[in-house]
Amino acid sequence: MPELPIYLDHHATTPCHPRVVDKMLPFLTELFGNPASVTHVHGRLAATAVEEARAAIADFLRVRPNEIYFTAGATESNNLVVQGLGLSAGAHLITSAMEHKSVLTPIDKLRRNGVETTILQPDRDGFIRPDQLRDALRPNTRLVSINAANGEIGTLEPVSELASLCKERGVLFHTDATQAVGKIPLDLSTVRCDFLSLSGHKIYGPKGIGALFMRRGSRLEPLIVGGGQEKNVRSGTVNVPGAVGLGEAIQIRSGEMSEEAVRLVQLRNRLWDRLVAEIPGVIIHGPREQRLPGNLNVSFRGIEAESLMIAMRHFSLSSGSACSSGERDPSHVLKSIGVEDSMAMASIRIGLGRSNTDAHVELLVSELKSSVARLREISVA
Ligand code: PMP
Repeated sequence: MPELPIYLDHHATTPCHPRVVDKMLPFLTELFGNPASVTHVHGRLAATAVEEARAAIADFLRVRPNEIYFTAGATESNNLVVQGLGLSAGAHLITSAMEHKSVLTPIDKLRRNGVETTILQPDRDGFIRPDQLRDALRPNTRLVSINAANGEIGTLEPVSELASLCKERGVLFHTDATQAVGKIPLDLSTVRCDFLSLSGHKIYGPKGIGALFMRRGSRLEPLIVGGGQEKNVRSGTVNVPGAVGLGEAIQIRSGEMSEEAVRLVQLRNRLWDRLVAEIPGVIIHGPREQRLPGNLNVSFRGIEAESLMIAMRHFSLSSGSACSSGERDPSHVLKSIGVEDSMAMASIRIGLGRSNTDAHVELLVSELKSSVARLREISVA
């Protein structure tokens, strides 16, 4: 194994917690049954494990187990909601310009098929205000989709107010909570959303597993049809080790989340203050309050993020969103909050997580300081 850099990209993905791996392993080997094989013990043991995982997720979100559906991840959950409502020409939906591409792309597909779409523009800190949503609602609005926490600039949206507003107007509300679940409290007995997407690999669980919460009484047409698993919402043999891992990961989060949030806010705020104090020309994107605990997004005036990351050999960092970092376009999220292209191209995202310490932050500040100074010298020379 090569010597690895310090990992500061916990919004892109996280390592599996060792307890998650321990819990999953038997389901890859001796407990390999298909949960649909109710005729034998192998199948029944797998089915029991899947139902325990479902119950753990439901318990965490304070909903009923039969309102949780396993998917392959948040991309699928988001697509399922946007495409599964069967919206057609004449219907209207509302979203925001800072959603993940797995919400925006299927919405764009609907728009091209004649569905009216309103894309709300966030304010400079990334917030969508309830009165802004109220003004955008129309008699034919069927769905509103707003993320609970933004994966690039960390903004925590007022989803409780937004969901209640939709409920009052009889409009379905979906939140992509991929970055929020397990990081901030989300109690769906009070947040009145109809749909919520989450993913295993953002919360120290495995990749390739996610879930959709669908409140009792709602309906979706499946995207994937076949054997009718997951009550016909998502056909295909359930990823048993994945589901077990996600269930364990969420249980661990429920124990660790509050304490870790306090620690990460302190670590992040110290990093913020140190960067502003130590490096001239730092611009921080996103809000000071109401922000994901481990998130910071910064630009250094005159410095391309790509060059900075090459210089920062000891750290794994992201420029813009990891999901779209192959694109080399300025991040659509930063653009939506009014960051000009040159600044957006300079942005790096820092995602602190469970393994990060004060020492990592100190090392990061000192390496950023020297790299920024060196790159500025080169550009002047
Ligand atoms: N939504 C958000 C806000 C995300 O950050 C991500 C992952 N970057 C996704 C959806 C997609 O999640 P997955 O990798 O589980 O498909």
